[in-house]
Amino acid sequence: MTQAKTWVLKQHFEGFPKDTDFELKLEKLSEPRDGEVLLEALFLSVDPYMRPYSRARMQAGDVMIGTQVAKVIQSNNPSFPVGCHVVGRCGWRTRTVSDGSDLTKVLVDWPQDVPLSHAIGAIGMPGLTALYGLEEVCTIKPGETLLVNAAAGAVGSVVGQIAKIKGCYVVGSAGSDNKVAYLKDLGFDQAFNYKTVSSLEETLKKASPEGYDCYFENVGGPFSSVAIPQMKAFGRIAVCGGISMYNDTTPQTGPYPHMHMIFKQLKMEGFLVGRWENKNEESLKRMLTWMQEGKLKCKEHVTVGFENMPAAFMGMLQGENIGKAIVKV
Ligand code: NDP
Repeated sequence: MTQAKTWVLKQHFEGFPKDTDFELKLEKLSEPRDGEVLLEALFLSVDPYMRPYSRARMQAGDVMIGTQVAKVIQSNNPSFPVGCHVVGRCGWRTRTVSDGSDLTKVLVDWPQDVPLSHAIGAIGMPGLTALYGLEEVCTIKPGETLLVNAAAGAVGSVVGQIAKIKGCYVVGSAGSDNKVAYLKDLGFDQAFNYKTVSSLEETLKKASPEGYDCYFENVGGPFSSVAIPQMKAFGRIAVCGGISMYNDTTPQTGPYPHMHMIFKQLKMEGFLVGRWENKNEESLKRMLTWMQEGKLKCKEHVTVGFENMPAAFMGMLQGENIGKAIVKV
């Protein structure tokens, strides 16, 4: 009989998550039946969406949602032979019995020299989010100016680099001087620490006096109230995330963007990465090529040990990570 370690949402988060909201449990797994496989987790992802989705999609007592890179260690499903690697929506668990419906095989020609963990990072969901936000939502063009916040994170760092590949002028904000130095290393034209600038408005104006064609929004809240008035006419805003609001117990209120949106004729569009799933394989191959050409770099913030999942999750929400926050089992 196989056992899995799991992390359960013991009670719904109220405000910022706490250690006591999580519980480590052992679960007995049944033998995989016809069509099923047994997976062993190698790398698990901790992502901001888990905070709002915990409320929207989970009950107290559920295993925490999430994706992982896993290895097939037993198989009764010819599509997923023993030894193959998958990205699975398995939740926070060390082992999983799956019928394959929640699994995607890691690209067949995944290069030896690219860590498999990137399949939940730059060459995975966060990378795709960056690509689709820029290409499908912002429809960014060479020569345009882009603003991205949470820029040193999993999505933001890829956003800035893809925009550079496309010949844009890129301004990024992040929450520490180390992160700002990282953004400059990545080739961002301007980067600043939003926590220490004396005026966000003046900093955005100075970084691009003509304003911004595109704004890749990861943060929301007061940052966006300052950024939206800095858009150029016909600017496009891709609303990817609003992490500054995820732990709010009461919703934040304005200033509201309407007047700026009307007079500058802005387009603001929210999106979920899953909308373009049919393009994923081609997109992942494209990003892998950029990575192998040295045009797309990525860092990982690795926490070792499954027992540290809650700490890794809360650390990411607090901004401990440069690049993608992952847990190595
Ligand atoms: P990151 O790797 O960027 O990690 C989160 C970062 O958010 C932290 O490192 C921190 O960086 C920043 N942050 C935390 N709290 C605040 C705050 N109050 N104000 C400003 N910044 C804050 O995460 P991801 O790259 O995975 O995700 C980035 C955004 O993209 C999130 O909003 C997420 O929900 C969204 N997303 C949306 C998807 C979609 O389909 N729409 C898919 C994937 C992600 P710092 O030190 O700079 O403050």
